[in-house]
Amino acid sequence: MCFNMHKRQIALLGSTGSIGTQALDVIRQHPEELEVYALTANHQVELLIRQAREFMPEMVVIANETKYQQLKKGLQDLPIKVWAGTDALAQIVEAEPVDMVLTAMVGYAGLKPTIHAIKARKAIALANKETLVVAGELITRLAAEHRTPILPVDSEHSAIFQCLVGEKENPIDKIILTASGGPFRNFSLEQLQHVTKNEALKHPNWNMGAKVTIDSASLMNKGFEMMEAKWLFGVAPEQIQIVIHPQSIIHSMVQFRDMSIKAQLGLPDMRLPIQYALAYPQRLKSDFPALDFNQYSTLTFEEPDTSRFRNLEFAFEAMRQGGNRPCVLNAANEVVVAAFLQDKIGFLKMSDVIEKAMQTVEPIASPSYEDLVETDKKTRDILSDYII
Ligand code: MG
Repeated sequence: MCFNMHKRQIALLGSTGSIGTQALDVIRQHPEELEVYALTANHQVELLIRQAREFMPEMVVIANETKYQQLKKGLQDLPIKVWAGTDALAQIVEAEPVDMVLTAMVGYAGLKPTIHAIKARKAIALANKETLVVAGELITRLAAEHRTPILPVDSEHSAIFQCLVGEKENPIDKIILTASGGPFRNFSLEQLQHVTKNEALKHPNWNMGAKVTIDSASLMNKGFEMMEAKWLFGVAPEQIQIVIHPQSIIHSMVQFRDMSIKAQLGLPDMRLPIQYALAYPQRLKSDFPALDFNQYSTLTFEEPDTSRFRNLEFAFEAMRQGGNRPCVLNAANEVVVAAFLQDKIGFLKMSDVIEKAMQTVEPIASPSYEDLVETDKKTRDILSDYII
């Protein structure tokens, strides 16, 4: 990655989502350091047009091809190249001027363009955790081969990354991954039976997209983040501990072999880890509100309860077994979260269906990229019958 003085050129994949719009807030405030080279969205064409008119990227891509004409028309008076389709995503990340690719799209769709960006040696600001969940082995091997840096955007992993600055020679003893516990932290199984999607979408601390908010309520998000930590920081599963910390002020910690623990703190605001990744290794000045310790006089910690939040146990198991297990877990989770958001299944039923998928889809010990594509498809096919 080049750290010279020119403006960093950013390809922002998923610009209309929660991370995407917050990343544009950060870029808007740092016009001297950061510039948008490309914007891409899945289907929100009107917002994409407004963003393109403001940030004037070289190119925009709409993944949903039926929206192409609308996008083209909305930008016809401007010298912006307009493309459509998922293959175009894989192409734009390879464009010569791009310095960094922010992967902020939702779910499995992030895998292919991330692989292309790594091979083209573009620094990755990784916000799409599903990429590492599904294909952590493949992605980290490719990144090492092509010497492409991966900078975490997830707040916990950004915290761990920041704790490791200056610690190159010191092995990690343990990663302590904090979790808010979500809106249902104190709910009984009986109560969990009846929670609605609107309750699940109200996260107590973080402002995030719908998919990750549901994953936070079910603790699947924390399960995914364990895997993300395992791959990003090269630790064994038993070196990762999850601690429920309802205030979301400590974003995660690293314990070293002398039993010293480093933590990174701040108010829960995704713009902070986004900005750290986009400007790394610089810290840019920000006007984000500062943490006031008088307002947070008590920080508390508790153990996660896997009898109420079974997803955490499935994620432990998938991580320990490896192979295509995390891919099955992810595909099943994407299916059940979509079904829950459409009121097709209840909150606890999501875990039952995931368990069913884990028992049904055959294991593959060392999956190739093609095996993962096949596993993902098979899992979705099996569950589409099972859910209805
Ligand atoms: Mg997180």
